[in-house]
Order: sequence, then C-alpha cells, then structure tokens
Amino acid sequence: MPEMIWINGETIPMADARIGVEDRGYQFADGVYEVIRLYSGKTFTLAEHLERLNKSAQAIRIPLPLSVDALSNEIRKLINVSGVREGMVYLQLTRGNNPRNHVIPEQCKPTLLFYARPLPPAPVPGEGEGAKLLSVPDERWKRCWIKSIALLPNVLAKSQAIAEGYDEAVFIDHGAVTECSASNIFAVISDKLVTHPVGSKVLPGITRALLLDIAGQLKIDVDERPFREEEALRASELFITSTTREISWVARWNDRYIGQGRCGNVTLALHRALQERVRQETAK
Ligand code: PMP
Repeated sequence: MPEMIWINGETIPMADARIGVEDRGYQFADGVYEVIRLYSGKTFTLAEHLERLNKSAQAIRIPLPLSVDALSNEIRKLINVSGVREGMVYLQLTRGNNPRNHVIPEQCKPTLLFYARPLPPAPVPGEGEGAKLLSVPDERWKRCWIKSIALLPNVLAKSQAIAEGYDEAVFIDHGAVTECSASNIFAVISDKLVTHPVGSKVLPGITRALLLDIAGQLKIDVDERPFREEEALRASELFITSTTREISWVARWNDRYIGQGRCGNVTLALHRALQERVRQETAK
C-alpha cells in the first residue's frame, strides 16, 4: 500500500499530495507542527499534543480548521489506514496559500496535513551507549514555547553536532542550559531533578511534563530553574527527552564524561515509570 497522507480533509497517497508554491508555510515558515508517538497502533498523549498545537496555532493566529475532537478522530482513522503500529504521526498546520506578502492576510485557508511513519524502538537507557552532546550558542528567537516550523537554528545546530561526531546539540543562552535542538534536557544535581523552565527559550515538551509528573509520584525533588553549563558538567546524571527518543541518558558533553560514565539510577527509575505510563495508556 502506498504511504497515505491526510491533507485538507482528504486521505490520499503521499505522492499525490500537492502544496501551493505560495503556501505561507513554504515561503515564510508561517506554521506550527506536532509529532505524536504511536505504540501498538495507538496514540500516546494525543490530547496533550493537540492542546499544545492549539496554543501554538493561537499564538500565531492560525485558526484550527477542525475541532480538537474531530481532529483526534481523523488522526485515528489515518493511523488505521496507514497500518503503522510503532511510529509517529507528523502533523503540520500552515497559514495556507496567499499572494506573497509579509502581512498576515485577513482571509486565509490554512493547510493542515498529517501522516504516520514507522519508527524503530527508542534505545533503552542503560543499554548501549549514552548520548553525546555538543554545546552551541542559543541563537533562536524568544518564543521557543511555540512549536514553530521555523527550525533553521535547530537544523544548523543538530547538523553541526552530527558532523562533529555527537548525537545532539545543546543550546547555551548566556551561560544557561536551555534545551537541545529537538529535545528537553534534565540534570540530577545534589539529588534534585533540575530543568530549565519552559517559556521564551524552552518548548513545553510533552515528555518533559510527563516526567515532572512522574518525578512527583516517585518523590524525586524537582527544581525548575535555569542551570549553568558548569553545573551540567558536574551533574551526577544528565538525560534528554522527546516524543520520539523518550529518555536518552547522556554520557558525554563536548569532550567531558558525565557522572560515572554509565546511566544513573534516577534516569533508570524515570524510564521504567514512563514505560509503565505508555503501557497503561496504550492498553486501553
Ligand atoms: N524541545 C525542542 C526544541 C523539540 O523540538 C522537542 C521535540 N519536539 C522537544 C523539546 C521535546 O518535546 P516533546 O517531548 O513534546 O516531543
């Protein structure tokens, strides 16, 4: 079966989908997106992702073409049609086609699309190598809480990290560790779980929020505060989180090893609890 896409209300083969040259997503990166994880053909934390989509869309004043409930139904239908079981749904909403002009048009017909893709299982923390992070200056805008499709600083940072033999780029904003090119970052410092607050420089990651909730249940102290690169280097554990990677333990930061050079106990406990949440939600 060809790969299928839902685009503006139609489910068609991906190869037949068409986007206008003057779609504002293409010309101005005028749009927002989401990545939703699938386990056993079921969505995980779909409501949270659609709530964030709604907030991102409102922030840049793009109306959602269908209600969140209707959208959830359409996403579920597409997943069934696609046959993808372990994977993700990529969803993108742009302001649509209009004669090129910086000014936001009064009338617009947004372009909404989504499709499902298989993913290999995320590496299990403690098994295999830990992630290697390259620190780079945070040169992004100050509305990182919006999940914008304008990702050029992230693309450049990640590509630099990969080219230099690392796995992910970690952004440093005036000495503070904000987040990574496509993930949030946590440190274990003096037995506390520390992570930068969400907002101008940090996306409200769905995995991040889930882990903060889990940490509360596991009675792990949480400190949401900016922390400096020197603190990160001395942390007993570091890990990064995202929908697709779940939790990856960090073994190296530039040329320095973190902690004992192996995955720490807080990371392992959080990972186990996250797996349990996935099991509970996707077994329904
Ligand atoms: N920060 C950035 C910049 C990201 O791109 C992502 C991945 N979308 C995250 C954090 C993690 O967010 P989530 O857990 O919702 O995937």
